[in-house]
Amino acid sequence: MKSFRKELWFNIPTRRGFINITPQVEAAITESGIREGLCLANAMHISASVFINDDERGLHVDFEKWLEGLAPHEPVKQYRHNDTGEDNADAHLKRTIMGREVVVAITESKLDFGPWEQIFYGEFDGKRKKRVLVKIIGE
Ligand code: ZN
Repeated sequence: MKSFRKELWFNIPTRRGFINITPQVEAAITESGIREGLCLANAMHISASVFINDDERGLHVDFEKWLEGLAPHEPVKQYRHNDTGEDNADAHLKRTIMGREVVVAITESKLDFGPWEQIFYGEFDGKRKKRVLVKIIGE
């Protein structure tokens, strides 16, 4: 069995945003040379997510609105976590509901997706460099 590890770095210029990272994950699979196996992708930060969904702009606006309804950024004083001097309690909550990682099967060197599935990085406390771990095992 082979194993391959790669970090993907992102610097989202806004506090929140979603980006389709499927091309970078596919490139990692090509680089790994693994044809049959499993691919894990996880956010390495507790204020960011990796998740699978549709690459449809309206849906991304819906996610943003839904998450702000569940855990609004303002007022920051409403959160006990922010008593520490941080302002990102909402980002921790958003990360929890959107998930830490995805695992996708690799079949014949390709991500074995269902219809319309794409991998996204979800940023909830951006404007700084953050990373996603890609780990691929197989042969
Ligand atoms: Zn925090």
